[in-house]
Amino acid sequence: MSTRRLPVYLLLDCSESMAGEAITQLQAGIASMVDHLQSDPYAIETAHISVITFSNDARQVVPLTEVLNFKVPKLAVRTGSELGAGLRVLMDCIRREVRKTTPSTKGDYKPIVILFSDGQPTDDWEPVAEEIRKQRSPGIANIYAIGCGPDADFATLREITDIVLKMPDMQPEMWKKVFVWLTASVSSTSQALEGGGEGRNLNLPELPAGALEIPPASTGPYLVRQVFLHARCQRDGKPYLMRFARRGRSDTFVALCSHPLDVVEKMRTGPTGQRISTDQLEGVPPCPYCENPVAVACECGTLACLDPRKGVAFACPTCGLRGSAGVGGGGFDVHQALG
Ligand SMILES: [Zn+2]
Ligand SMILES: [Zn+2]
Repeated sequence: MSTRRLPVYLLLDCSESMAGEAITQLQAGIASMVDHLQSDPYAIETAHISVITFSNDARQVVPLTEVLNFKVPKLAVRTGSELGAGLRVLMDCIRREVRKTTPSTKGDYKPIVILFSDGQPTDDWEPVAEEIRKQRSPGIANIYAIGCGPDADFATLREITDIVLKMPDMQPEMWKKVFVWLTASVSSTSQALEGGGEGRNLNLPELPAGALEIPPASTGPYLVRQVFLHARCQRDGKPYLMRFARRGRSDTFVALCSHPLDVVEKMRTGPTGQRISTDQLEGVPPCPYCENPVAVACECGTLACLDPRKGVAFACPTCGLRGSAGVGGGGFDVHQALG
């Protein structure tokens, strides 16, 4: 007897707003989910997991793999949040990997898609969302869209699926609860399917209080809550990301923290790459590597950390320009990052 599989696609936003704790917790959450499913006899029989990430592009980082052989991938943060590209890769993978029912054999069960998104898409996502929407009954998949963090865009997520959830708090214990819940959903679905159910109606377990909720129908006009600026440490050129949060509904963004990054990203502008002036920024998050307290802009556009208490000698880690930095002069314009 050939086994009918329950494909589970994790579609993950790895844009820069996920930098730091969020991406670490997301990765840990996947690890604990897989760990749990590996000891669940129903899931071992049916569940297969795949991971697709999107940022400045989208790719399937783990093909559909049975839970016993699944290895958690290392997730890296990059600029951009190309949800449209992510959905297109998802559609391709589903078409390619999910076995269809034929007159003689039953195909795989309807896939579960778990989408994490924490901001506005930076690409043209509407056509593919519409394509997915058109196939709603029966849909191509049961899509759970989880909006996390202060910039989650629920209006966009509702264009993709009816199951839209909000993760209001991104503390580690909340990530744990979310993944316990997701794991229970996959477990109960695979158990129901093994018992002969078709899984057309998902039996969602009760939402974990405080960790997941139904977002309100309308939250007013979308207003970006955070902006990100890329910088490099002047000591060794390592890249990092500075995070600023909007003060109330004003145009001012207050320094929050900075995150080490694995890859140097070019500053780019795109559909949502608004110009942010330094006049709008309050404070500078210190360099995460050397704790230099300010950042200065080179002619080439690179922001580099600097400690004015130790002098203003400047050597750009990108273009090599040397000179003395004009600290406190202000007025330089910088492009905010995308995702
Ligand atoms: Zn530094
Ligand atoms: Zn430079």
